Amino acid sequence: MKRIFKTLLSLASSCFLIGLVLISVSAKGYKIRPEAPKMKSVSNVKQGLCVSWIRVDNAEGYIVYRQKSGSENWKKIDEVKSGKNSYIDKTVKNTVKYKYVVKAFNGKLKSLQSPNPKSKTYVAVPRIKAVKNVKSGIRLRFERSKNLSSVCVYRRIQGSENWKKIATLSGNSNSYTDSRVKSGEKYSYQVRRVIGKAMSAKNANIVSNRFVAVPGRLVAKGKLDSVLLSWKGVPGANGYKVFRKTYDGSWKQIGTARTNSYHDKNAPVGEYVFYKVCSFIDSKSVSALSKASFAKLIDPKKPMVALTYDDGPYRPVTNQILDVLEKYGARATFFVVGSRVSTYSDCIRRANSLGCQIGNHTYNHKTLTEASDSQVISEISTTNAAIKRCIGKNASIVRAPGGSTSSRVRSLVNYPLINWSVDTLDWKHRNTAKVIASVKSDVTDGSIVLMHDLYSSTGNAAEVIVPWLINQGYQLVTVSEMMYYKGINMTKGNVYSHA
Ligand code: ZN
Repeated sequence: MKRIFKTLLSLASSCFLIGLVLISVSAKGYKIRPEAPKMKSVSNVKQGLCVSWIRVDNAEGYIVYRQKSGSENWKKIDEVKSGKNSYIDKTVKNTVKYKYVVKAFNGKLKSLQSPNPKSKTYVAVPRIKAVKNVKSGIRLRFERSKNLSSVCVYRRIQGSENWKKIATLSGNSNSYTDSRVKSGEKYSYQVRRVIGKAMSAKNANIVSNRFVAVPGRLVAKGKLDSVLLSWKGVPGANGYKVFRKTYDGSWKQIGTARTNSYHDKNAPVGEYVFYKVCSFIDSKSVSALSKASFAKLIDPKKPMVALTYDDGPYRPVTNQILDVLEKYGARATFFVVGSRVSTYSDCIRRANSLGCQIGNHTYNHKTLTEASDSQVISEISTTNAAIKRCIGKNASIVRAPGGSTSSRVRSLVNYPLINWSVDTLDWKHRNTAKVIASVKSDVTDGSIVLMHDLYSSTGNAAEVIVPWLINQGYQLVTVSEMMYYKGINMTKGNVYSHA
């Protein structure tokens, strides 16, 4: 009985052991086929297309398959051997559409492919190639791409977290100028490409730039021996760089200014010299270059002529003459009548700003030889007071009406008196051709030419005689400049008709 029990026990235990072994063997060999995973999405990321799906039970990993648009074939592109549920396909080509499915696997058992393929066009992130300050704002240049429906530009102002779309451009664009910028502010940019509903990732190479405005209204004025530059300053700028070039040279920086003016004492003489300026905040924040302005320093060894215009100003004619002088970088002298100064102050200020000289031609165009002593004095002084109110300085030369002087007049006038050597008689014939002919036949080095800026015939003549004289090699200067360069020291009460 005891033996039987023992045998039964050992039998039972061996059965149990065998059973245990059997169960463990079958557990090791039995695998369950996973279900087909469902696709979740395909989206554009920085490195490629990011494919994601919904995890399934019993999956050791997933196999990703791809079908290129226009092809019938599904191609296995990779295996993900973990419980991951996404994959970045980096082997995609820009603007090509791809369709994706995945299969789950468990050992050698593979699921069916996803029942809901997902597709997307890959849109590569465009590289921004350059960002720089231009006159109208900040200019971006970026890679161009074919087949795009549009390109979007995003901006973030320094200190802000928010990117804001500032422009939608046509698909083949490769540049954009952001003109809604403020000097001193720093901006970051990124660009995204769009094809239909697909859009490139956002994390482009982000570029930043501080905008610095361009100095405005640069004026180069030829002084006696130097060029004086002035411009409209940029608020917040820490300084300005000044550039110069001659007609056949290249732009070179010649100096730095802290305020909005610069004196170029080394400008070459006798040729046109061009200038540009830019503003800066620091070495990395520099504006674009301004519009150029030019000046010409007089060469004392070359011939020169002083054109003079009396009896004005008269807006239509004076401005016509000033337009010509400005165009050719030339200067003239305007002997103004004092009673006209306040009415035509704009003309006088413009002439002065172009480097022209303003002379005194009495207040009422009074013939001084017929005026009393006190009248002579007041005719001159009231005119100078009016000129000073207009341009901040007195006239330093006087032309007597009709050129009529006497020893009495000369002793009363506290300034040099200027007559002329070429009389065009423009007031008498009012004929453009005759003004031109008179200048062409009578002018020589040192001539002072008499005209009147009251007649359109004289204004029209300026359009011909200014370029003609320059072509003949004459430098068009003011009366005082001509005397300076010719070494004539004018003194009060003396009459000068030429240099
Ligand atoms: Zn006159």
